[in-house]
Amino acid sequence: MPKKDSGNSSAAVAKSLYVRCRYCGQKNTVKEDYKNGEAKCGRCKLALSNEPHKKFADLSKHEYVHPSDSKALAALRAIPGIDTALKKLLSVTGESAIRVMFTASAVKITPKQCPDLHAKLQIACTTLGVDMPDFFLQQNPMVNAFTGGVEKPIIVLHTSLIERLNDEETLAVIAHEVGHIHAEHVLYLTAAQLILALAQIPLASLPIAGILKDVLSATMRGALLAWMRRAELSCDRAALLVTQDPHVIGRTMMKLCGGTMASRIDYDLFLEQAREFQKNYDEKWLDKFWADILTSGLSHPFPVWRVSEILKWVEDGQYADLMKK
Ligand SMILES: [Zn+2]
Ligand SMILES: [Zn+2]
Repeated sequence: MPKKDSGNSSAAVAKSLYVRCRYCGQKNTVKEDYKNGEAKCGRCKLALSNEPHKKFADLSKHEYVHPSDSKALAALRAIPGIDTALKKLLSVTGESAIRVMFTASAVKITPKQCPDLHAKLQIACTTLGVDMPDFFLQQNPMVNAFTGGVEKPIIVLHTSLIERLNDEETLAVIAHEVGHIHAEHVLYLTAAQLILALAQIPLASLPIAGILKDVLSATMRGALLAWMRRAELSCDRAALLVTQDPHVIGRTMMKLCGGTMASRIDYDLFLEQAREFQKNYDEKWLDKFWADILTSGLSHPFPVWRVSEILKWVEDGQYADLMKK
């Protein structure tokens, strides 16, 4: 229910009703007959409601990281010399190069530039307990988002991704990226993304491609890419801890699957498809499935698989346990 604003004591001025946004805390003036969810917050543009929104005071990554991510990361770290090789590689490419590239080619999001996107980043960071990274929006036809950096992470959202999503789904995507920072993925993720970027033909002739091959062995490169897809599953969980609605994650995945046809897709049937997928793949098949993803050159695991993983996490009670913490 809206509250009366006690800050105005003048009898001549009618007392205004307000609702404090559950996500960003902004005070929004509302009409007398307002009901939760009927309007958008003027600051973050998410559905306005004063229902509680949990912020995690001391969330550990071990509380939500997907076991496949932990396993693949342990295998990656067990490769002799991997950390030294990565540090060498990233000292050549450098954090400054990444920062200069985005500062020159993308729009920097600030409290004044696209303020609702900035507010969403702030919500994701305060919910998970992460320092605010630099944040960019880039015109790019590839439906994607990116987190990179070495010492200081940056998040980049592609315009083609944001155009397809509503405000809640946009929060989910931003929260997924903040999850990469919280789960301490950034260094490995940056190296893996560099490998993928350099696999593209126009870049293959650059000197950096040669350095990459010299510094990182084929085993290291393979292990980085194998881990990278599994890391996505952890960050989908982080996104759920921020949106606090599994269907926001489900609908985001549906839009990633259905592209521009998403408005004609039945969400319940999509969920049924995800459950069917999970049922049909036993552990043996999953190993094969991961191998297929690895060789397919995809930067992310398939969206149906990701939604089935989120459903499983919710249905086995792990999500509810964390929310009670
Ligand atoms: Zn708000
Ligand atoms: Zn990701």
